[in-house]
Amino acid sequence: MNFTYNRVVVVGGGAAGFFTAIVLADLKKDVEVIILEKTMQPLAKVKISGGGRCNVTHDCYDPQTLSMNYPRGSDVLRKAFYTFQPKDMIQWLQDRGVEIKIEHDGRIFPKSNTSSTIIECFLKQAKDLNVKVQLHSEVQQLQKLEDGWRVQTKDQGSIDCDYLVLATGGLKKSYELFTQLGHTLIEPVPSLFTFNIKDERLDDLSGVSVSNAKLSIEGASFSSQGPLLITHWGVSGPGVLRLSAFAARYLHDSDYDATLCVNWAPQYAEHEVRESLLSLKKENSAKPIAYTPAFGIPKNLWKKLLEFCHIFEDKLWAHLSKQELHQLVQVIVKSQFKIQGKSTNKDEFVTCGGVSWKEVDHKTMESKVCKGLFFVGEVLDSDGVTGGFNFQNAWTTAWIAAHAIGDS
Ligand SMILES: Cc1cc2nc3c(=O)[nH]c(=O)nc-3n(C[C@H](O)[C@H](O)[C@H](O)COP(=O)(O)OP(=O)(O)OC[C@H]3O[C@@H](n4cnc5c(N)ncnc54)[C@H](O)[C@@H]3O)c2cc1C
Repeated sequence: MNFTYNRVVVVGGGAAGFFTAIVLADLKKDVEVIILEKTMQPLAKVKISGGGRCNVTHDCYDPQTLSMNYPRGSDVLRKAFYTFQPKDMIQWLQDRGVEIKIEHDGRIFPKSNTSSTIIECFLKQAKDLNVKVQLHSEVQQLQKLEDGWRVQTKDQGSIDCDYLVLATGGLKKSYELFTQLGHTLIEPVPSLFTFNIKDERLDDLSGVSVSNAKLSIEGASFSSQGPLLITHWGVSGPGVLRLSAFAARYLHDSDYDATLCVNWAPQYAEHEVRESLLSLKKENSAKPIAYTPAFGIPKNLWKKLLEFCHIFEDKLWAHLSKQELHQLVQVIVKSQFKIQGKSTNKDEFVTCGGVSWKEVDHKTMESKVCKGLFFVGEVLDSDGVTGGFNFQNAWTTAWIAAHAIGDS
């Protein structure tokens, strides 16, 4: 790679843009690295991420397993994770004095429990490495020069550079920057949301959670398994968010009108559920069914499931008919609820879609359409489920792009 201007411009001062700039400035101390950020607040999403704690990555170090958490971009990211993955990011942070902690569900946070730690670390690195952070600099146009790029900002004139990194995230408006250059946009749609369900069977259950439910969409091949939380507007929790991510495009296309199937005891096959209920019937014949919940189902939910089957609260196990037992099995393995819209998940949401991977070299993150143009982070058509995977997408793609430019 050649340097004429001795300058690299990174458009976007979010997680991916900052990490690219810092890594690159560290590799190429003689090259001027400039971040152009349109707002007055760099790293704004990092600040609010993970409920203000910043779920910086995930406790998963096998590229194949890790890649399964990305509904889009998994193939490319699997390969990329062999170059830079969570353990590398943890090491990078620790080398710069950021202590991390791993939570029981694999999410990794700064030990301080505040995203400020990550922001302070990035700002200090940028300062120490002379990265120029230019705020209030909205980039409006990119022009290919014979030996580089001209970056036109809204209020701050233009800058010429050798290489250009687009780290503009999932903002619709910024997609024009690359579509104008001939790149294809994979239509953006929301991912990571909760389901709105208005169903009287869920009334009074708001706040009830199940540690392991299997969720699927009727008539489609998407499914997920994990904790489910009943809310006053429908259902939420990691299992729901995961399903929403994998089915994001399908649900968008069906206008968020679909049927959710819930298996409340996914650790058992249907015949095992039946056998367990028969054993319960034998062992507890004189007890009311409502007071002997099975499969770890919370008591108030269990009562509702019985209501689904018109089994009255005081009915004894001994009086459970064959047909009622059959109905109860069906409700346990497949309760159906009508999804009527979605709600934003306040802890984390992303856009799926972005620049098509077909037009990006996954080994360098360089555009195959325009030489010298690189893409990192959420602007790419890759996104993860909740749990720190979206930031890892930003760190990995940024590291690869920075090295592709810097190792030249
Ligand atoms: C509420 C919330 C919480 C989240 N929590 C987590 C979490 O805990 N863990 C996790 O892994 N993920 C989390 N995510 C997702 C994560 O924040 C994103 O995946 C990540 O920030 C993407 O980084 P990025 O740098 O690609 O994009 P962004 O962070 O969106 O940064 C893009 C930047 O580019 C700037 N920009 C855009 N257009 C222009 C332009 N034309 N000129 C100049 N600048 C421009 C924007 O102002 C912005 O600062 C969360 C998301 C949200 C919304």
